[in-house]
Amino acid sequence: MSSVLVILETRSGELRSACLETVGAARTIADAKGCNVVALATETANIDAAVVGGAGADQLMIATADAHSADAAATTIARVAKEVGADVVLLSATVRGRDITPRVAALLDTGFAADCTAVDSNTMLFTRPICGGKAFNNVTVNGDVVVASLRPNFFASAGRDHTAEISEVASETALAQVVEVAAQSGGRPDVAESTIVVSGGRGMASPDNWNLIEAIADAIPGAGLGASRAVVDAGWRPHSEQVGQTGKTVSPELYIAIGISGAIQHLAGMRSSKVIVAINKDADAPIFKHATYGIVGDVFEVLPELAAELAK
Ligand SMILES: Cc1cc2nc3c(=O)[nH]c(=O)nc-3n(C[C@H](O)[C@H](O)[C@H](O)COP(=O)(O)OP(=O)(O)OC[C@H]3O[C@@H](n4cnc5c(N)ncnc54)[C@H](O)[C@@H]3O)c2cc1C
Repeated sequence: MSSVLVILETRSGELRSACLETVGAARTIADAKGCNVVALATETANIDAAVVGGAGADQLMIATADAHSADAAATTIARVAKEVGADVVLLSATVRGRDITPRVAALLDTGFAADCTAVDSNTMLFTRPICGGKAFNNVTVNGDVVVASLRPNFFASAGRDHTAEISEVASETALAQVVEVAAQSGGRPDVAESTIVVSGGRGMASPDNWNLIEAIADAIPGAGLGASRAVVDAGWRPHSEQVGQTGKTVSPELYIAIGISGAIQHLAGMRSSKVIVAINKDADAPIFKHATYGIVGDVFEVLPELAAELAK
């Protein structure tokens, strides 16, 4: 019996929400093939079988490792893939997923499609943005097992009422292990996982003005903070917030670009956002070519007014 194996990502023992979309994509593929979805967490975690089942999984396997290790996770995934007869293995194209995906493909002696934004579940043709999102590649994987990573915010959880059957599986021995993850404090969601991103650039003039950006984010529940590389390089904001070619790739429902010019390297990380709002005093700024809505104006006049309106 074939199956679709989907990898669940956890952090500090808790499930990361982005991977539920990958479970939903696995469900769509499994329905087309007429097979089961097996979800595998490669580390011990507190996972609700109803949440994973509701997203689309039939089975939930939780491995015994108590810390993350890319090499051990990949070896465990490859072993479980063989045990459950997986002909498709899906991961989320997060930082961790990008680390593990090629290792899994190598261990299964197959190819992989990375960072995909669409998949045809009948032909298994994957679509992935290239050249900073200016073009798309269509990829098929040659090999007995199809391995792919899916970009967050492009797929949907199945949203059904089902509880997955839970079981425990042994982890492989780790050659290298993560002993600590030092997360940035601040209590906001990671920019790569936020459905709304409020992002600031050099037009903010100084890090002291970031309270204006935070006021906008505070008024929109669940909003994450983003930044251009110019302000990260200047030390105004942490690298964890950088959006773009050398930062994070985001595709939220709403991306608000404030005082950001829209350089090609910034666009590479956010142009697939569903709705883009740009605020810039230069009407010819490149960002306006990609914006759904544009406000031409001085951020120091526009932001207080916008915050006041949002507070209402
Ligand atoms: C290899 C490479 C990789 C790179 N990777 C990235 C990346 O990952 N992410 C990234 O962002 N960049 C990246 N860059 C840098 C990129 O080319 C740009 O330099 C950078 O994005 C510019 O940031 P910015 O828009 O904040 O600044 P600027 O380009 O200086 O733009 C500032 C904008 O603010 C506007 N402005 C100024 N004052 C006001 C005001 N008072 N009110 C309203 N608007 C105002 C200006 O009109 C201007 O459009 C990379 C570059 C290279 C070469």
